[in-house]
Amino acid sequence: MESLLVDIHKCLGINDDHLKMNRLTLQKQPKLEDLQVVEIDYEGKPFVLVSGAAKAWLEMKSKAIESNIMLMPFSGFRSYLHQKNLIERHLKNGRSLEDIFTQIAIPGYSEHHSGKAVDVHTKEKALLEEEFENSQEFNWLMKNAFNFGFKLSYPRSNPFGIIYEPWHWLYIGS
Ligand SMILES: [Zn+2]
Repeated sequence: MESLLVDIHKCLGINDDHLKMNRLTLQKQPKLEDLQVVEIDYEGKPFVLVSGAAKAWLEMKSKAIESNIMLMPFSGFRSYLHQKNLIERHLKNGRSLEDIFTQIAIPGYSEHHSGKAVDVHTKEKALLEEEFENSQEFNWLMKNAFNFGFKLSYPRSNPFGIIYEPWHWLYIGS
């Protein structure tokens, strides 16, 4: 494991037991030149993916618009250090690492590091909750996303120890 990750884990108090229990795959951060700003998200922040995923996302998005479905990105590429910040925020709220890791991957193991994962929200609001499965956006994704190479990573009762995440889609290609 690269030294940046070792340092981040040490800093957060992540030990060998946490890593042994982890069932997610180690993800490499893409090179800078492989990343692309795809669009500006609802908060005015750049939404970034690797180019293959970016192309597929834009194609999927324009297909969805034909059915009046507006797919809004909430989060795409995320760095190891950003992941560390997210976890620190939850630790400050008094949550344990074990509890946090059912929702947020150990730095190094988030699919968002690959630049191929997208969290989708509806045009009304960022709905990173199970309730997203009742949205027309989710319904459309379940029927169409595979045509564009996107797959739901964490369905109900998935083997990865991650909660059900109807909003989180990974580009796996065709
Ligand atoms: Zn996600």
